[in-house]
Amino acid sequence: MRVTVDLGACQGHGVCHMSAPDVFELDETDGHAIVVQDPVPAELEADAQLGADSCPERAITVA
Ligand code: SF4
Repeated sequence: MRVTVDLGACQGHGVCHMSAPDVFELDETDGHAIVVQDPVPAELEADAQLGADSCPERAITVA
């Protein structure tokens, strides 16, 4: 699984990080999401999908 964040759409809500803290971190300066596990290991795929689904801006793409 690959996960990408559209930084043009990301508004820094941080919901993805709350849903999947091992996959998404937040940039300390602007709050934008950073994918820290790419590709996502099998044991974190469900968390990654949850994070993507929870993004209110639909800024996360899972493939
Ligand atoms: S939930 Fe969406 S908008 Fe919020 S920080 Fe994560 S990727 Fe960005």
